[in-house]
Amino acid sequence: MNDWQGNRVFWDETLKHIEHQVSEQEFVMWFQQIQYARSEEHTITVSVPSSFYRDQVKQRYLDIIEEKLHELSGRPVRIDFEIQRAELTSQPAAEHNPSGNSANSTNSDNRSRKNGKEKTAPSQPMRHAPGLSQDYTFEHFVIGDNNRFAANAAIAIANNPGTTYNPCLIYGGVGLGKTHLLQSIGNFAWQQDAEKRIVYVTAEDFTNEFIRSIQENRTHLFKNKYRNADTLLIDDIHFLQKKNETQEELFHTFNALFDAKKQMVFTSDRPVSEIRDITERLQNRFTRGLTVDLQPPQMETAVAILNKKAEKTGIVVPDDVINLICQKITTNVRDLEAALTRIIAYAELVNKEVTVAVAQRQLKDFFSSPLQNNITVDVIQRTVADYFNLSTNELKGKKRTRQVVFPRQIAMYIARDITEASMTDIGLEFGGRDHTTVMHACQRVESRMRTDPTLEDVLHNLNRRIKEEGSRA
Ligand code: ADP
Ligand code: MG
Repeated sequence: MNDWQGNRVFWDETLKHIEHQVSEQEFVMWFQQIQYARSEEHTITVSVPSSFYRDQVKQRYLDIIEEKLHELSGRPVRIDFEIQRAELTSQPAAEHNPSGNSANSTNSDNRSRKNGKEKTAPSQPMRHAPGLSQDYTFEHFVIGDNNRFAANAAIAIANNPGTTYNPCLIYGGVGLGKTHLLQSIGNFAWQQDAEKRIVYVTAEDFTNEFIRSIQENRTHLFKNKYRNADTLLIDDIHFLQKKNETQEELFHTFNALFDAKKQMVFTSDRPVSEIRDITERLQNRFTRGLTVDLQPPQMETAVAILNKKAEKTGIVVPDDVINLICQKITTNVRDLEAALTRIIAYAELVNKEVTVAVAQRQLKDFFSSPLQNNITVDVIQRTVADYFNLSTNELKGKKRTRQVVFPRQIAMYIARDITEASMTDIGLEFGGRDHTTVMHACQRVESRMRTDPTLEDVLHNLNRRIKEEGSRA
């Protein structure tokens, strides 16, 4: 075949150009693994590690790559992708010769044989690791400003477990995608190598399993399972508060895996520094690697997420319905999804199209009373107490230790901020205190906010929980 070596120069130049355009992290993640293969006059073929990679690169960068190539070479040049090795979901034969076993990897015109692999596979291969949900994959995860850093870190980890960011801690409020990202890492790593032991567990199950193993005298089996994992994914580690023995066990598990350079990823609904009653040495371990957070999505990302969900159901949901949901529901992705599901379910049930009128009627509860209306001082007290691992009685009580005074002041401040209650009302709800105490509390919180930048995050987090709690009430 006549190879247009000249195109190689344009390719290299294009890469250099892109390196300046994107962040270093992005470049390392998406471009360092692309290999130039060959070219024709109007086509450059490159090879990439997986179809996931190909799709991501196409979606994110194909336009700028092809535009730059056009500019440099003076003619339209398109990029064809081929996969460096058969993905492990297809044939075990890949073990033998990682680059040359499948027709896919040598055929330059992948575009015309889009589903070739699926066709040749003997039976539908399993796309998700045992014990993980097949819905929780990177393909199903929409990346926006609220989660970009976390998602990119997760992708990097899934590509190179145990090397770059170990451990990784993902934190964020309920329904923001922690479990989805965590399981995506597991699914992806498993797709790369199904021999690897990928262990996903919630901290709650980890705790219960550990207790049971003690009762039944088989802690060695428990240790075996977790200390021999290649990738250990533990969800919701805030659950470990006060679970001293489990913390101890996890500490040793951590050390064993860390020394063996095995990947660990944890999630938590709050920064580790705010998990109470957890040993300092375990806290240190959790934050030894990379910590990333998830925020609620902004409008554009929320719309993209719902479009994707709607697409999966195969039901046409008009743009204005999606927009309506996203305008009204700003708490988290889980609530967005729940609203969409409810509307679609209703439309299906009564054989109607999904229209704005249907949506409005279905979501009336959400819309007619703004979430804030359900929020009482009581809800605030419960949420704040729970967050700081106190009882509401302690929060309202007389104790003046540091442990309760500041949470109490925060609760008063929030009550003042988001309810209609007066300072006098609030004082009464806090064990009959005087309104000047409430005023003082608000001043304290405000002045502390000026000097402690993390406090704003805490308040943000609390406000979101309170809204969620209120919407359930
Ligand atoms: P968490 O573990 O943080 O409480 P989940 O991972 O369970 O949240 O996410 C709640 C729901 O929202 C799941 O159905 C998940 O698929 C969906 N979700 C969250 N973030 C995204 C996203 N960026 N793209 C697509 N779906 C998302
Ligand atoms: Mg979760």
